[in-house]
Amino acid sequence: MVNVLEAQPYFMNDQDHPRTGGVTQEPRKTKKNGVKNLKGAQAISEFHLQTKKSYNKTIMNHIQTLQNKKYFIKTFGCQMNENESEQIAGILESHGAVPCDRFEDGNIIIINTCAVREKPVEKLFSLLGRLKNIKQKNHACIGIAGCVAQLYKDKIIQKNKAADFVIGPDNLNKIPDVINSLSESDSGIIQTSRNRDWIEINHISRQNQISGYVTIMKGCDNFCTYCIVPFAKGREKYRPLKNIKEEAKGLAEKGYKEIQLLGQNVNSYHDPDSAKDFPSLLKEISQIRGVEWIRFITSHPKDLSEKTIHTMAEMDKICHQLHLPVQSGSDHILKRMGRGYTRKEYLEKIELLKTSMPDISLSTDIIVGFPGETEKDFYDTVDILKKVEYTNIFSFRYSQRPFTAALKYKDNIPFETKKRRLITLQEAQRNIQLKLNKSFIGKKMKVLCMGRSKKNHNSYIGRNEAYQVINFKSDKDMTGRFVIVEITACGPYSLIGIFHSMAK
Ligand code: SAH
Ligand code: SF4
Repeated sequence: MVNVLEAQPYFMNDQDHPRTGGVTQEPRKTKKNGVKNLKGAQAISEFHLQTKKSYNKTIMNHIQTLQNKKYFIKTFGCQMNENESEQIAGILESHGAVPCDRFEDGNIIIINTCAVREKPVEKLFSLLGRLKNIKQKNHACIGIAGCVAQLYKDKIIQKNKAADFVIGPDNLNKIPDVINSLSESDSGIIQTSRNRDWIEINHISRQNQISGYVTIMKGCDNFCTYCIVPFAKGREKYRPLKNIKEEAKGLAEKGYKEIQLLGQNVNSYHDPDSAKDFPSLLKEISQIRGVEWIRFITSHPKDLSEKTIHTMAEMDKICHQLHLPVQSGSDHILKRMGRGYTRKEYLEKIELLKTSMPDISLSTDIIVGFPGETEKDFYDTVDILKKVEYTNIFSFRYSQRPFTAALKYKDNIPFETKKRRLITLQEAQRNIQLKLNKSFIGKKMKVLCMGRSKKNHNSYIGRNEAYQVINFKSDKDMTGRFVIVEITACGPYSLIGIFHSMAK
């Protein structure tokens, strides 16, 4: 089966390295000591450290100032990374750079990376290999941002000479200075210092003009035993409520219809100034005029409070939709994962959600093949899918990640077993989704139209309150409007319909 769920971009990355507090620039290894470590790599690279300085000067002749330079950003990973890329774009544009659509056209290329799983890390290195030619042709400078940047810093630059600079998540606003100082650097720049305070970025160039991301917190203190996120993103820090409200208000004024509040663990949010909690934040954002739908991601089950559930039920604008990663349905595995809740406690929260909001749509993340997972443990997870009846799941084969506590366990589940379990799990979910989606046929639902389908001229794509994808036909362009769509057909992963009327 095509792994449609896994193919959707959704994963985040890792933790709190010993902080380098105060260090602002860590120059890459100098020629002398760098050459030693780079013997093998040099043979395959035209960008030897020996030639690097003159090469960077060539870049600078082309860059000089960011004014009218073309930039291209490639993003791997979750919505938080997407929002981070929007911030990088905003910063570059505030210095006069302009976006372009292809790597090939870029003078400045930024790759915003994800380290949650092995695959995206491998993808980065293969992409960097392919970019060498473009770099040579355009004299482009290439920067690596995001979790892989934070974790693998000097390794990235040593392993692949296409990269000119590495920028950590707390250093985005330094990108223009970093690019400008490349000519002074012998061998590239690593800028990955940590900052415990919230750093406000005022320039955001958004990809979407209908639904806007608003980051409310960063980092994670949970240290689930399989997860690299706390190591790459650092410890939790929270954005001041007044700044969140300001950004949300700005979006409403620009005509945005939906706001998605983002954080690794939004439930632990509290305002650093007033200590107001997450439900209070939800209430305050709900009062902003103009925005009609509010969502948030991600919620940790152990931190999802009754107060948050009641607020979701009470406030009209908060979508009855929740992503609540369970990871496993087995107490034995949940304990080994360090998740901080039992199967029973998770199901009790689901029960409260369903009684408070009978129309709620739930989604989850699941890892199969965690060390020590027996067939019984696995079928306890399949059973949870049947009990909860999620609208959607994101499922992954366990892979060992550096720095994580689970490295102490033997990765003892054979690849073939992990693969079989993933397929079995996804088949079970496919049947649940198909049944659910069939029940919508003939019904009408409110949909926020996100734009025209690329394949079919009269077709539009939107999302309903449950965050399901709806493809619908309409004679008129409904982009950015709330419409009522009548569902006429479905597959396990989408709903198909026709425009019925404008939503009130
Ligand atoms: N903050 C969110 C998501 C973090 S990462 C949360 O707490 O749920 C996104 C998902 O990637 C996780 O929910 C998990 O299902 C998956 N994941 C993380 N580390 C993994 C690993 N080592 N192997 C496989 N999947 C992993
Ligand atoms: Fe990773 Fe767990 Fe934090 Fe989610 S809560 S980011 S899975 S450590």
